[in-house]
Formats: sequence, structure tokens, C-alpha cells
Amino acid sequence: MAQAHKLDCESAAADCRFIIQSENEAEAIELARNHMKEVHGKEYTDDELRTDHLQVV
Ligand SMILES: [Zn+2]
Repeated sequence: MAQAHKLDCESAAADCRFIIQSENEAEAIELARNHMKEVHGKEYTDDELRTDHLQVV
């Protein structure tokens, strides 16, 4: 069964409902990084996103 990589931004920013879900981890990380930078003005490394923000569902 395929795993999906999910970012639920609400856990990082209480007023944001942005959710990413992708079976491709690299794509999920890239989308998450762009969202964090463009919407929240925060820069995260791939490792930070992978360990702190992305969930495997
Ligand atoms: Zn957000």
C-alpha cells in the first residue's frame, strides 16, 4: 500500500488550513518549502520539513 507524505500546516501555524498530501516525498517537501516561504516567510530545510512537519499517513 502506498504511503502518502502529508503536511498539515495548521499544526505549525494555527490560522493556516493548508494541507499537502503526496505519495512523492520529494514533491511534498518542495511544496511544503514553497508554501512556508511564500505564505509564512519562513525558511525550512528539507530535513526540518521531513522530521518536524511531514507526517507519513
Ligand atoms: Zn501555512
